Amino acid sequence: MQSTKSSAGAGAWVVHKFGGTSVRDAACFRKVAGIIDGQGVPRLAVVLSAARGVTDVLLSLVDMAARQDPGVPAQIQALRERHQAIAEDLLDAAGAASWLARFDADCADVAGVLHTTSLLRSDAQNVRDLIAGYGELWSTTLFAAFLQARRGSGGTALQWLDARQCVVVEWGALGPAVQWEQSRARLQASGAPQFQGTLVIPGFVARDPRGVQTTLGRNGSDFSASIFGALLDAAAIHIWTDVDGVLSADPRRVPNAQVIDQLSYSEAMELAYFGAKVIHPQTMAPAIGRAIPIYIRNTFAPDNPCTLICAEPNSELMVKGITTIEDVALVNIEGAGMIGVPGTAHRLFGALREEAISVILISQGSSEHSICCAIPAREADRAERVVRAAFVRELAEGQIQSVETVKDLAILAVVGDGMAGTPGVSAKVFNALGQAGINVRAIAQGASERNISVVVEGRQATRALRAAHASFYLSPNTLSIGVIGPGTVGRVLLDQLAGEQARLAREFKLDLRVRGIMSSRRMLLSDRGVDLANWKQQYESGATDGDLARFIEHVQVDYLPHTVIIDCTADESVARHYADWLAAGIHIVTPNKKANSAAMEYTESLRAARRQGGSHYLYEGTVGAGLPVIQTLRDLRETGDEIHSIEGIFSGTLAYLFNVYDGSVPFSAIVKEAKNLGYTEPDPRDDLSGTDVARKLIILAREMGLKLELAQVKVDSLVPAELAKGSIESFLEGLSRHDAAMLQRYEAARKAGKVLRFVGRVTAQGEATVGVVELDAKHAFANIALTDNVVRFATARYNKNPLIVQGPGAGPEVTAGGVFADLLRLSAYLGARM
Ligand code: ADP
Ligand code: ASP
Ligand code: MG
Repeated sequence: MQSTKSSAGAGAWVVHKFGGTSVRDAACFRKVAGIIDGQGVPRLAVVLSAARGVTDVLLSLVDMAARQDPGVPAQIQALRERHQAIAEDLLDAAGAASWLARFDADCADVAGVLHTTSLLRSDAQNVRDLIAGYGELWSTTLFAAFLQARRGSGGTALQWLDARQCVVVEWGALGPAVQWEQSRARLQASGAPQFQGTLVIPGFVARDPRGVQTTLGRNGSDFSASIFGALLDAAAIHIWTDVDGVLSADPRRVPNAQVIDQLSYSEAMELAYFGAKVIHPQTMAPAIGRAIPIYIRNTFAPDNPCTLICAEPNSELMVKGITTIEDVALVNIEGAGMIGVPGTAHRLFGALREEAISVILISQGSSEHSICCAIPAREADRAERVVRAAFVRELAEGQIQSVETVKDLAILAVVGDGMAGTPGVSAKVFNALGQAGINVRAIAQGASERNISVVVEGRQATRALRAAHASFYLSPNTLSIGVIGPGTVGRVLLDQLAGEQARLAREFKLDLRVRGIMSSRRMLLSDRGVDLANWKQQYESGATDGDLARFIEHVQVDYLPHTVIIDCTADESVARHYADWLAAGIHIVTPNKKANSAAMEYTESLRAARRQGGSHYLYEGTVGAGLPVIQTLRDLRETGDEIHSIEGIFSGTLAYLFNVYDGSVPFSAIVKEAKNLGYTEPDPRDDLSGTDVARKLIILAREMGLKLELAQVKVDSLVPAELAKGSIESFLEGLSRHDAAMLQRYEAARKAGKVLRFVGRVTAQGEATVGVVELDAKHAFANIALTDNVVRFATARYNKNPLIVQGPGAGPEVTAGGVFADLLRLSAYLGARM
């Protein structure tokens, strides 16, 4: 085959095809002319489509006429105006007038045929074929006139070649079949192969063996290009369109789709069959036979890297593209009577064939207990009827239990030669789909292993496409994020995200997209993601009234694979929604302690919800801020260690108070100072009461597997009973009356060589206590700095010398850092390669 190409020699033809998107208007025609004349190749065959949308209008005219719709003349007039504008822009007055005279003659013919159609009320196929082909005739005659005028008399010779005289096809069940012998003979007779110069050829149109005009089917100009490539023994075929090449997915659905550098013919064919609209599936056949390379290129960026489709591509990519076919239905027949009985499949597909229902995908379990196939959704009802009719006896006798059709589905196809013999590819696809909460209805993998196809819910098609695309590292893993509570911690988190977002996208293809920010009263929603560099200004100017239900609905969209809610509040009212969110497949990351320290029943319901939704719930920030406390505990338990007790200083505020207190300054004065420094909650009683520590202890206790309620924690509060109520000021005033008692306690401890610390402790037996204790001055808890937290795990493995986690355990920076770390951990669970 190669020899054909080389024998064509220096004078070989090169075919350039420009799609409808490349000949939209006069400016596009100029671009095309520039590209053609920039080639510097003596023999060029230029195949053009109709101007964008013209074929659609022409076909709709036939429908309208058959319906006797009175709008026909207006539509024809609109077509005329569009072409007139292009002609008058491209040609001089005389040229435009003579072109328009021919155009008007065509329009008169079109009107005549449509008139007959409306009288007959029938849109016969040959009428459709005739009318549909005008778009290409117009675009090419216009272009030829323009190119001729542009080149002037001394320029390269140019000839308009009527494809209807050369390309002979016979329509059959598999579409148009080129009659090569006849076509080649007719082309020879036209003299075109010997021509030295530029041939301008209408795409899409052809003739049948009787000489009646026909077409090559929708999007058939690609096919025309490849037919002429074969007929002219071309050295190459260039398909020019409005994207840089074949992309790894439809760019309208996966904005990060990338240009595939090289593809094999089979890969391109498979992608085209499964809906990559950029190239027509039949295009390849004539080119394959002669090993003619096909380039897919961008008319509007001719120098960009493009796609080469050839026999032996040299590409590193294992998966070349992922596509979807929409509006698909499944026909499923099931029955024990089919097992081991030959011919069931034959009868099923025979029945569908009889009704001309095309089957897109077939899957049969190896038990032969069921067979299912995917068909276009519009055929679903008809298909169910014919299949029932075909198996009427088996259904009556119970050998077949059910014939069922399911509509509103889509097929996702993952294509690439490199998948053959590479284990783990399908695992990756299913993993990605599972992580994105997508239910797979049927699966098919071709024996060539070039294609894995799965049937999914139609409304989840884009989401499935994006999840699968991201899993092959073809585009970023996108997390649709909603942040609730842009207060102390949330604010810092958003700033931290702003700083790292670009790097994470670059290094790990991780797209952390904050699509909503909500405070207790207002919310900011964004489709493409809030620009975090100035989220505060956007929030100030763009936030609307808050509505939690609407917020969640906005953040969880079908087309993005993963949704995360980051709850930076301390609100119980927000935490109450966790179970619903988790069950709906929304992941949660939070430093909010309320859900995990609520009634045991609720906390346990979160586990069930997580299982139901396949979602993750991460809350490292609830204990010790950013310190690895929860994760450490989990690791210990999951690796089989036995926890005897956990104790520690879990409150940065209380740590500070007792670190600073040395008897020289009254305790109440230190509390006041800490409050002024911002180390306490607005109401210091929230810290001093020990409830916050008790909540953390409950979280740890439950993590240890204990079923403990908050009320079961013995808390020794530092808030005197008489001061529990009343204003903050009166509390701070009143506290000084208790300074003497605190001093006494301190002195007693000091005399015994001890110090006071506010400690929480929980044991494997379920004993939980919170309060001030005396500790040896050498104790680990006695020697921590400022607001440090310290947690001590006594376990079977760490028994003589306990495991201690220590470090700053309060403050917005470290807490937000802990939440951020959880978010990245979640991303890794969801498939990001960190
Ligand atoms: P033309 O008029 O040039 O033939 P088409 O509209 O037929 O153009 O095909 C080009 C369009 O195909 C692109 O604009 C793009 O939106 C769409 N498309 C769908 N899937 C893919 C894909 N995998 N790669 C490239 N383009 C695709
Ligand atoms: N104009 C035809 C169509 O729209 C053929 C093509 O553009 O490829 O289907
Ligand atoms: Mg096309």
